[in-house]
Amino acid sequence: MSLLDGLESLGLGNLEKVDVVGKEEEKEVKPRVAERKVAEKQPKPEETEESYVYTKEYECPVCDNHFKATVVKTGKARLIKQDKDLRPIYKGVDSIKYDVVLCNRCGYAVLSKYYGPLPKPHKELLIKNIASNYRPMKEPELLYSYEEALLRFKLALVNAVCRQAKDSEKALICLRTAWLVRGMKENFNDISFEEEYTEEKLAQMEEEYLKDAYELFIKARQGETPPIAGMNDITLDYLLAVLSIQFEKYEDAAKLLTGIISSTTAGSAQKDKARDLILELKAKLKQRK
Ligand SMILES: [Zn+2]
Repeated sequence: MSLLDGLESLGLGNLEKVDVVGKEEEKEVKPRVAERKVAEKQPKPEETEESYVYTKEYECPVCDNHFKATVVKTGKARLIKQDKDLRPIYKGVDSIKYDVVLCNRCGYAVLSKYYGPLPKPHKELLIKNIASNYRPMKEPELLYSYEEALLRFKLALVNAVCRQAKDSEKALICLRTAWLVRGMKENFNDISFEEEYTEEKLAQMEEEYLKDAYELFIKARQGETPPIAGMNDITLDYLLAVLSIQFEKYEDAAKLLTGIISSTTAGSAQKDKARDLILELKAKLKQRK
């Protein structure tokens, strides 16, 4: 499995094996045709997903095309909770699905957070590597299926790689793709997927995206100045500690967490969260013995 398979259907099969993290690694490629055939089940009428989103118009910084994308009404969606790795969970809508702005004429895709004018050299790189080969996907309706959303995230990732975006931006795309896949996993029994997913396969995909996010955030922490992907250094260190525990880098996690607890800039809520994570870390270390 490649993290980017499915791009062949958009004319970008040559980018399926692109090196995301910046290391030489052979990745297995399984081309497939991604086309949505089965409609997803909709939530109860009183809280439809439609009521949480609207259509926004954009102008493409690559081809000047005017296009529309669905965005979440920030004032309406209510945050229920946050996963440990900072994934926000809203009532009635999985907001992550609407995170990527895509021009379906030239294939320009970007996290809405980074949407904006592009320097000329970046524009040229995208025209050469993406727009010249791009075959539009099915024009999306107001609501995106998880699989459409996943394809948009993959496009955002190859766009970021092609225009040599910062590690932090690529890291954030990978992190949010992992969150999207987690959403697919959580809704597994309510959704008919076009692709033959199993819960195990989704779990594996989620872990691979998280791994790339982890490696890229480590590179970003070394090479960029905060805020990194919108996070101050305390928030980033907390996220890295969560991921370090997940990938069994316990010593790194301990260093990051003690750093947060002894920091003069961290707030008391952040320190409490760090202390909770230290307890979890201790329990893991005990299990390992
Ligand atoms: Zn465009």
